[in-house]
Amino acid sequence: MEDRHARAITYLRLSVTDLCSLRCRYCMPAAGIPKRDHGDICSVEELVEITRAAADCGIRKVRLTGGEPLVRRGILDICRGAAAVPGVEELCLTTNGAALSRLAGPLREAGVDRLNVSLDTLRPERYAYMTRGGRLEEVFQGLKAAAAAGFTGTKLNVVLMKGFNDDEIPDFLDISCRYPVEVRFIELMPIGEGRNAQFLPAEAVLESNPYLRPLEGSGVARRYRSPGGRGTVGLIEPMSRRFCAQCDRIRVTADGKLKPCLHSNQEISLRGLHGEALRQAVRDGIAAKPERHHMNETGRSEAGRSMHQIGG
Ligand code: SAM
Ligand code: SF4
Repeated sequence: MEDRHARAITYLRLSVTDLCSLRCRYCMPAAGIPKRDHGDICSVEELVEITRAAADCGIRKVRLTGGEPLVRRGILDICRGAAAVPGVEELCLTTNGAALSRLAGPLREAGVDRLNVSLDTLRPERYAYMTRGGRLEEVFQGLKAAAAAGFTGTKLNVVLMKGFNDDEIPDFLDISCRYPVEVRFIELMPIGEGRNAQFLPAEAVLESNPYLRPLEGSGVARRYRSPGGRGTVGLIEPMSRRFCAQCDRIRVTADGKLKPCLHSNQEISLRGLHGEALRQAVRDGIAAKPERHHMNETGRSEAGRSMHQIGG
């Protein structure tokens, strides 16, 4: 279905929990977040029903996210249910990778097609610092398990932060040369805790590595390859190169609110709706998509929620 700005909306980012096993400094408050009542979060059945309604409205790609989707009880049932929805052509999942060594095989069997794994540094002490206690080795084991389980086209999400990981850009490019993965450098957005970290434009990757060869873009990413590299490099630049005109997505939070735009506080409640009423609410959400965000002018997101409560 097209929105009012003639954009075809085909991609749903579905958050399955706002809880997480890590506390990345730019995403989660230091104290973590209070656990909600079980009933405040959509059940497995509700999440699958929402996916079905979204597919009926033209959604073809679904990404499960969070919080950390792999800490959600019933995650494999959610995957199986979403993968089986008629019309869903691609089921993806974004994870911090900490539980992937155990779950990669079961996720593959449950119908997940592709993974994005978030990894902002390749240095164990930095990783422990940024995630407030995470173990980098677990992510490496998870990536190995994902490859062994047959996942291909895996992407590594790297949020660029000045003074934190800008000196690791060459190391990440090296990973994109040696492994068949896409390393995606993502610009930090001024949302929630993200306002406390230091922004670095993704253009810095090109400036310091002019040998990168441009490839055809994909979705909202500019893409490149190092000469002879097995993998690719993506730049996601919500701040420097606003890609709202190419936006093809809607989001649903774990508590069942459809967000037409990541950076707008507009939310449409889906809980308690079924059948045609649910489909109409999804259509209303698509129709309500604002033309663009205003972070460049205001310096802050108007999301009204933190990233872990939306899912990126
Ligand atoms: N826990 C999973 C993970 O970390 O991959 C999924 C949820 S996380 C909110 C989704 C993505 O959003 C991650 O790649 C994370 O690095 C990114 N993210 C979180 N806060 C951000 C911010 N302020 N700006 C840009 N990306 C952010
Ligand atoms: Fe958790 Fe992902 Fe946020 Fe890190 S970025 S705190 S892993 S939800």
